[in-house]
Amino acid sequence: MNQKKCRFYCYRNTRDLTRIDNDKLDKIKLVVFDMDGVLVDAVSSWKYIHDYFNTSNEKSVDDYLHGKIDDLEFIRRDVELWKINGKPIKMDILEEILSDVPLMKGAEDCIVFLKKNGVKTAIVSAGLDILAKYVADELDIDYVYANGLKTDEQGYLNGEGILGVKLMYKDQTVKSISEKLNIPLGCIAAVGNSCFDIPMFTVSGLSIAFNSEDGCTREAANYVVEGKDLGNILPCLKGYI
Ligand SMILES: [Mg+2]
Repeated sequence: MNQKKCRFYCYRNTRDLTRIDNDKLDKIKLVVFDMDGVLVDAVSSWKYIHDYFNTSNEKSVDDYLHGKIDDLEFIRRDVELWKINGKPIKMDILEEILSDVPLMKGAEDCIVFLKKNGVKTAIVSAGLDILAKYVADELDIDYVYANGLKTDEQGYLNGEGILGVKLMYKDQTVKSISEKLNIPLGCIAAVGNSCFDIPMFTVSGLSIAFNSEDGCTREAANYVVEGKDLGNILPCLKGYI
């Protein structure tokens, strides 16, 4: 663990990251993509909204990484910060804010190529499901796993989250997809850009660090792809599909 490369406290001190003996790499049948910084050209869908409201969740990030709060409390604290005239906001405001988020260059070509070759695709994101569903629709991605927000009867965010993907435990999501689709872990490739993608790298047959600034993430992956063009991951996959 090389913490010197990271800005934040390393969450891998908090969670148990036992090396899992992943299945042997076989023909790739499914590619799981992180969303933020991979399928979309934005660091984080949560941060995108914080930037809009000029709010910051650094204290929550720190508490979360130290294991002091769980994912749902993290979400609750985020939503608490997003107010207009002191009042909670409606879901459609978030949709409007996120509608600006650009797709990553090459994303469309990448998904088209995979589909043409009979490879299934999934988003595994601890970001917001409203953006993930939009991206999946745009790109024709098969499966979406992300996090949602609950609203009251009038459509205002009530602070509660719908936990689909735990930020520190993306391996659990990949394992459950593997079981559900009956695709061995060795036939899954994972593409991610941050240290929170390392757990899914660990369980997948093949892993690609995409445009990652983070040393730990790069070291944990089988392939490192530089730059912001998702089409450049295809040469890494071509030998396995
Ligand atoms: Mg990311």
